[in-house]
This record gives sequence, structure tokens and C-alpha cells, in this order.
Amino acid sequence: MRKKILVTGGAGFLGSHLCERLLNDGNEVVCLDNYFTGQKQNVVHLLNHPYFELIRHDVTMPFFIEVDEIYNLACPASPIHYQYNAIKTVKTSVMGAINMLGLAKRIRAKILQASTSEVYGDPEVHPQVESYWGHVNPIGIRACYDEGKRCAETLFVNYHRQNNVNIKIIRIFNTYGPRMHPHDGRVVSNFIVQALQNQDITIFGDGMQTRSFQYVDDLINGMIKMMATGNDFTGPVNIGNPNEFTMLELAEKVIRLTGCKSKIIFEPLPADDPMQRQPNISLAKEKLNWEPKIELEEGLTKTIEYFRTVVK
Ligand code: NAD
Ligand code: UDP
Repeated sequence: MRKKILVTGGAGFLGSHLCERLLNDGNEVVCLDNYFTGQKQNVVHLLNHPYFELIRHDVTMPFFIEVDEIYNLACPASPIHYQYNAIKTVKTSVMGAINMLGLAKRIRAKILQASTSEVYGDPEVHPQVESYWGHVNPIGIRACYDEGKRCAETLFVNYHRQNNVNIKIIRIFNTYGPRMHPHDGRVVSNFIVQALQNQDITIFGDGMQTRSFQYVDDLINGMIKMMATGNDFTGPVNIGNPNEFTMLELAEKVIRLTGCKSKIIFEPLPADDPMQRQPNISLAKEKLNWEPKIELEEGLTKTIEYFRTVVK
């Protein structure tokens, strides 16, 4: 049966892929966005679809609609964007969660929160399991994002405990792919754009910090599988690719795959930048029968192809 689904932050990088997939699966999609970091361009190809609707709205304000499911993705995700207006970032996570949970409660919709590996902060447990409480600096420059997302998780579990709202929490690890904003400062897009323009590749710190990169299609599969679980499973569940790389390894791969002439240069490491990050995905395997399928080089190749069409 055709479901009616609300996607907040639907004009962003991940949201646009999710809207596309939900429409392809035969659903009706309402995409809500304030275009802070997302763009109409990301969903322009969906505008003529008879079951797609695009609404400009800020999630810090209440919103009413009747839908079966809500995917709550609205929130800037790259450090330069979420630090640009830190107070607004907290409001988006916290008030956005309150508004969307209130809506879910009232209309009895299922609701999924796009949480993040950042709730683990600079982790002392490696790889990160869902039972780890994290190591976050509450007054640091990343706190507006990390603590906002942690508070949103708290709101989600309490709407479940107190009001029996059918909630789902996924903790997303670094995800990349087509439609990342070329200038949002995230490492994969930065390195690819720099390589395609034969500019220096900027490694922050010594390049030995690690991240585990997941291709967007794998994440979208995980999100949809999570939404399909019953009321007895709320998460949080890690959704990420456990293959871990240093930033130096990533830079070398991008240089090789683009065939560019860029040099690597080293710049200062930003404050509170986590040293390592790798998901333990046993829970996702067990509960969702999900694991990522796309290896880094394959995903980078597709992403580079996309950036060749947007970077001049
Ligand atoms: P993005 O910046 O491309 O998308 C976020 C979208 O939310 C944008 O379209 C933006 O305009 C919109 N938005 C921001 N504030 C809003 C507000 N107040 N009201 C309405 N819309 C608003 O980032 P993304 O990578 O697509 O991330 C989507 C979600 O996934 C975010 O919640 C992010 O925290 C989470 N996430 C992403 C990653 C990743 O690696 N990409 C990792 C962990 C978590
Ligand atoms: N980074 C880098 N060069 C860049 C952009 C980022 O070396 O041009 C580093 C950054 O310091 C961090 C890692 O790459 O250690 C991942 O950064 P990103 O902002 O993509 O994600 P996050 O830190 O939120 O995981």
C-alpha cells in the first residue's frame, strides 16, 4: 500500500537520496526544508513526480500534516555549517525533535531520527558499540551538534517511554556520495573538489586520524530497513561501513582515482576533532539483516564522476 511519508531536511544530501528511493518504492513523499544547507537543485528532478511535494519550512516551528511515517533529517551536518550559527544548530536538533515528535504522537506516525556517530564524541571505546555512552566535550565547538543530537535522542526515547510513540534511532557514520555540497568542508567532498581543480589537498593534523566511510546507497537501505522494524525495536543502531581509513590514505586514493597532480599539504587540526571512528555493526546485522555492500574505491569512483559534472 502507498504510504505517505514526511522527510525533513529532504532537500539536503542524504534527504534527496531518501526522497528519491521512497518515491521509487511507490510511496507519496512530502519533502520539508528551509534550504539552509540543502538546495532545490537536489530535488528538482522529482518536482514533476505526481506523488512528490516540496515545502519550505523551518523545523524549529510547529508543522502539521497527516502522514504514516516521518524521517527527521533536518540539521546541518558539516562542521563549518553547524558551527556557523551554533545556537540555531541546537534549536534545529532540539526544537525540531520536539515539533516532529509532537506531530508523530498526535497523528500516530512512526518516526525515525537521523542521529550520528558524533554522539560518541572522541571515543575511548573502539570500534563504537551502541551501549557506549560517549566522550563529548559539552562546551567545545562541536558541542552544538553533538549535544543537540544527544538531546534529540533523549527526547525520542522519552516520547517512546511516556507516550508509546513508535520511534527509531539510527546513528549514522560518515557518509559520502553524489549531491554532497562541494563547499561544505567535509573531507571527501573537499579532497575530490581539490583534486579535480589540481589544487593542494588539505589534510588537517598529521592525517593519521581515522574515519569509516559509507556510500550513500548503503545508508538509505539501512534507514528503510530500520523504519520497517516493529514497535519493539527502537535502536539506537549504528549504520556505517566498518572499513576504517586514515585521512592520509583517503587523500592518496582520491589522488590516484582522479589522476590529478595535486600535492598534499598539512594544516592545523580543528579543536575536538575525533582521532578515530569505526562502527560496530553487529546490532544492525542481527536486527536489520543489513550490512554495507559498497567498498570505498567503488563509492569514490561514483562520487568523483558526479563531481566532474559540477566542478569546473
Ligand atoms: P545536509 O546539510 O546536506 O542536509 C541537511 C538538510 O536539513 C538541508 O537540506 C538543510 O537545508 C536542512 N535543514 C537544516 N536546518 C533546518 C531547519 N531548521 N528546518 C528545516 N530544514 C533544515 O546534511 P546531510 O549530510 O544530508 O545530513 C542529513 C542528516 O543526517 C542530518 O541530520 C545529519 O546530522 C545526519 N547525519 C549525516 C551524516 C553524514 O555523514 N552525511 C552523518 C551523521 C548524521
Ligand atoms: N579533514 C581534513 N581535510 C579537510 C577536511 C577535513 O583533513 O579538508 C579531516 C577532519 O579534520 C577530520 C576528518 O577529515 O579529521 C573528517 O572530517 P569531516 O568534516 O568530513 O567529518 P567529521 O569530522 O565530522 O567526521
